[in-house]
Amino acid sequence: MKYKIITYGCQMNKSDSERLANQLEALGFKLSEKNPDLIVFNLCSVRQSAVDRAKARINKSRGKAKIAATGCILEKDKKEIEKITDVIFNIKYLTHLSEILQKLGFKPKKLKTKKDYLKIEPKYSSDILAYVPIMNGCNNFCSYCVVPYVRGREYSRDKQEILCEIKKLVKKGIKEIWLLGQNVNSYKPSFSDLLSEINEIEGDFWIRFTSSHPKDLTKKTIETIAKCQKVTPYFNLPIQSGDDEVLKAMNRPYTVKQYKKLIKTTRQAFKKYRKGLESIPALSTDLIVGFPNESTQQFNNTKKTIKEISFTFGYVSRYSPRPGTKAAKLKDNISPEQKKKREKQLVKIIEESALKFNKKFLNKNVNVLILKKKNNFYLGKTRHYQTIKIPVDNCNEDGPRCKHNCNHGCNEDGPRCKFGFVKARVNKITPYGLEGKT
Ligand code: SF4
Repeated sequence: MKYKIITYGCQMNKSDSERLANQLEALGFKLSEKNPDLIVFNLCSVRQSAVDRAKARINKSRGKAKIAATGCILEKDKKEIEKITDVIFNIKYLTHLSEILQKLGFKPKKLKTKKDYLKIEPKYSSDILAYVPIMNGCNNFCSYCVVPYVRGREYSRDKQEILCEIKKLVKKGIKEIWLLGQNVNSYKPSFSDLLSEINEIEGDFWIRFTSSHPKDLTKKTIETIAKCQKVTPYFNLPIQSGDDEVLKAMNRPYTVKQYKKLIKTTRQAFKKYRKGLESIPALSTDLIVGFPNESTQQFNNTKKTIKEISFTFGYVSRYSPRPGTKAAKLKDNISPEQKKKREKQLVKIIEESALKFNKKFLNKNVNVLILKKKNNFYLGKTRHYQTIKIPVDNCNEDGPRCKHNCNHGCNEDGPRCKFGFVKARVNKITPYGLEGKT
């Protein structure tokens, strides 16, 4: 029995696919890109474009293989996807995958059923970076978002279970841990305490997390983030709009003033607890342009706000209504051209502030986690989450040695593998990243 998984969407979906892979292998399936007997599509209904791409790919894949679909699928999309797949299952029922597969005619091995799908061990797809979900679901019902409908209400994973998983990963040599959740700040009983305990785990590794909601971000959490030295100085805090009325319509319960205060507190905390470049955090955000009724004045308020804050990165998306959400009842009355124009303007502002931020790194030494090699460059991320390119020619013989159980193509007698941590000196910058030499 051969399987293949095709994943769309965010890191949480990628992490779910890792659990799915492990469960399939425990049930007797083997990964195979060629002629699989089963193809599982792990889908994302957050954007219409992703749904359309997925449907086209499902149609193309139909043939001998059985097709299953899971992931974040809206009711409306479900009806259409049901017609072109053999089964749709909720990712929470991964614990009952054996029964689902039997119905499709497979003869899977028998397994002990786990209570919660997050208790299923993942088949990690990288030996450098690992995703660790700490909570799932969302209670916030932002008016444009499908997540609460498709993932259900928030629940937090047991702290000991999370700590145990991370200890194992660090022992295996994982260098970057991403703590995942739709709203990590509302992890129960306390995100701040969880971070402190992860930070205490011995070993050389970085901690990152996503996503955060301003409404649940406390001063205590900000101080903990800044104090925990393994937590990288990169922080994504979605603002979505820089106008109070639009925020209200989006059901985002904070004002621009409150958001700015959180940013100020974050900058002050890093200044207080860290030194050098570490004391200037890279602040990124998510923005939606063209929300229903967003006036020129309201959009200008957003422009003004993001200029003032000076973000290092920003992910701007054009509003598109998702059926079933509150905002979908409003008229999508900002034209596609106008949305595109607004998106361009925000991207330009962010590019300017990103360049200004990256300038601070020119001719400075930075710690880098090399993640891959492409053409003649090693590609990695700095602690501030900037992408950095390092020419292969500059490969330094003193770089870390590969552990030889990697997938990087190096061998015992071959060159030293550069994947992992290296130090680099930055010699070029753009708004989108850095270039350096080891
Ligand atoms: Fe969606 Fe809002 Fe929840 Fe984020 S916080 S997952 S945008 S409902």
